[in-house]
Amino acid sequence: MNTPFSYLSHLECSHCGQTYDAHQVQTFCPICQTPLLADYDWTAAAAHLKRDQFQARRKGMWRWHELLPVGDEAHIVTLGEGDTPILTLARLGDELGLQRLYLKDESLNPTGTFKARGLSAAVSRARELGVQRLTIPTAGNAGGALAAYAARAGIPAQVFMPADTPLANIEESRITGAEVTLVEGLISDAARLSVEAARQNGALDVSTFKEPYRMEGKKTMGYEIAEAFDWRLPDVIVYPAGGGMGLAAIWKAFGELRRLGWLEGDHLPRMVAVQAAGCAPVVAAFEKRAETCEFWQNAHTQASGLRVPKSFGDRLILQTLYESNGLALAVSDEEMMRAQQQLARCEGIFAAPEGAANVAALHHLIESNWLAADEQVLLLNTGTGLKYLR
Ligand SMILES: *Cc1c(COP(=O)(O)O)cnc(C)c1O
Ligand SMILES: [Zn+2]
Repeated sequence: MNTPFSYLSHLECSHCGQTYDAHQVQTFCPICQTPLLADYDWTAAAAHLKRDQFQARRKGMWRWHELLPVGDEAHIVTLGEGDTPILTLARLGDELGLQRLYLKDESLNPTGTFKARGLSAAVSRARELGVQRLTIPTAGNAGGALAAYAARAGIPAQVFMPADTPLANIEESRITGAEVTLVEGLISDAARLSVEAARQNGALDVSTFKEPYRMEGKKTMGYEIAEAFDWRLPDVIVYPAGGGMGLAAIWKAFGELRRLGWLEGDHLPRMVAVQAAGCAPVVAAFEKRAETCEFWQNAHTQASGLRVPKSFGDRLILQTLYESNGLALAVSDEEMMRAQQQLARCEGIFAAPEGAANVAALHHLIESNWLAADEQVLLLNTGTGLKYLR
C-alpha cells in the first residue's frame, strides 16, 4: 500500500483556530496576527506509522518526513541537520548535585546551531511551493542558517541583522551569497526592514513564527528526545528562549506523539525557559501569569540569540510554560560566562552563551529546590561557542 511522504493536512491559527490551506504560501493568521501551526492527518498517520520504524532510517531530521511538511522528497534542502547527540553530564552533575543530567548538543548541526533544523524545513517547503525569494530579520544564527539553505536551494535571500551581531553570523551569511543589511538597532528594527523588503520584492519573510514551517523543523528535537529516552520523557527540559520557538516546537512534538499514542505513560516534562537578565520579557510575563509579553526596552546581552524584546509567538511560549507546570527565569551575562567555563571544564563542551545560560539557570533551580537531585534533567545546547569569538 502506498503511504504519503507527508501527512500534512492544513494550517491552523494557534489562537482562533481558523484553518488555512497548507498548499499555498501562508504567513500568519491575518485575523489575530498570531502564528499558524501545521496540522496533519493523525488518524491516517497513527494507522500506518510505527514509532519504532524511524530508528532504522538514514540519520537526520528528515527521517521523520511523514510528520514534516514537505510532500515530495525531491524538494528537501538538507545539509545533514538533526540527530544530534544526547550526552550524559556525569562530572557537571556531580559538581551540581544532580544524578541524571543530560545535554542535547545542537551545536553539531550545520551552521553550528539548531537554527539549521527550522530553516531546512522552511526553505524546503518554500521551494516546494515555488517561492522565488526569501528574507529574514535575525539576531544572528537564523540569518546564517537561512543564507546556507537558500544557497543550497538556489533561492536568493536577504538577511537583516543588528550591526553588532557576532562577526561569524555576518560572514557566514555573506559568504553563502545572501544580501546582508546591517541595522542600527535590534532584531525588532531588522523585522520592520524585512517586512518592507518582502512587500517591495515579493520575498517570503521567514521571521520566527511568521511562517509555519520553521517550527516543524525545530519540533524534530522533541521526536529525537522521546526516541532517545525510550518514549518516556525526562522530568525537566531547560531551553534558552529568545523567540521561544524551539520551546514551543518541542512541546508541539510531545503533543503529537501523545496523540499518536507513542509515549509511554502520560508523563510530560516541565519546560523551563531561560532568558538573559538584560532581555527577559517572557520571565516578566510569566511572573504576572500574563498571556502575552510586553516589549522589553533597551534589550542587551552578549547572548545574541536571546536578544529578542518581544516574540511574535509569545502566547505559545507562555502556554507551554503554564501547561507543562514549568518556569521562566533570567540569568546575568556574568553567570552565563561562568557557566560556560564550568561546562567546558567539566565536560569538554564549548557552548554558546545561550546554551551556557541553561547551566547558570540550573544553579538557581537547585538552590530553590525546584529540582530534585534524582530528576532527569535535559539541557539544550543550542549552538557552539566558536561562533562568538571576537
Ligand atoms: C536563536 C537562538 C536561541 C533562541 O532560540 P528561540 O527558539 O528563538 O528561542 C538560542 N540559542 C541560540 C544559539 C540561538 O541561535
Ligand atoms: Zn486567528
